[in-house]
Amino acid sequence: MLRETNYSEASKILTVFTKDYGLISVMAQGCRNLKSKLRGVSQKFSYGIFTIHYRENGVSNLRTVDILDPFLTVLSDIEKISYATYLLELSEQVVKESDHLEVFDLLIASLKKMNEGYSPSIITNILELKLLDYLGIRPVIDGCSICGSTKDIVTVSANDGGYLCKNCMTNQKIYSARTVKLIRMLFYVDISKITKLEIHEDTRREIAEFIEEYYDRYAGIYLKSKNFLKNLNKISKVG
Ligand SMILES: [Zn+2]
Repeated sequence: MLRETNYSEASKILTVFTKDYGLISVMAQGCRNLKSKLRGVSQKFSYGIFTIHYRENGVSNLRTVDILDPFLTVLSDIEKISYATYLLELSEQVVKESDHLEVFDLLIASLKKMNEGYSPSIITNILELKLLDYLGIRPVIDGCSICGSTKDIVTVSANDGGYLCKNCMTNQKIYSARTVKLIRMLFYVDISKITKLEIHEDTRREIAEFIEEYYDRYAGIYLKSKNFLKNLNKISKVG
């Protein structure tokens, strides 16, 4: 479940991302009543089997939810919640724009890895990279973005749309070789198969910087939760 909005005295309208039908709105009738069996499950992050009485021309009603994974580790940590909230919002935007239901599996795999204790910022960067493909703005990282050469790749540039080789580079920022290589690895990695994820903090910052510039330049997506994350990072840097 991506979003919840209170409705009338005791109900909620929920935005649910489904694997088969994409985004749908459902009414959780009476779910704010203390005794409602929908109370505990009519919340953002609920992940499970939703039984819905579907009406094509009208309001669909939520009947039951069997939770598959409560994501308890994520929900008990404010930093993880912040990253996970951003992932929900970003995934919703991407599905709205592209209708690619593969985003569902990517989102769930990301939340599971975050819940297993992997770095929420790196998992976020991985999903951000992968979603570029579904937004139709995949970076050129199989070769130089200008000449196509696969030799002598020296940096990556958001402005130029991807990798740059020694010959095509002019005065772009030089990212570390590790950062350049990792951006490609993270783009292609199968999130559900990750078993080790150790990236030096300086490299992680560079990767995040490239992704942020790339999104700013090509994606045209503005999310409140992203701003919140930026402020969170500023605070942790000062601390
Ligand atoms: Zn080139």
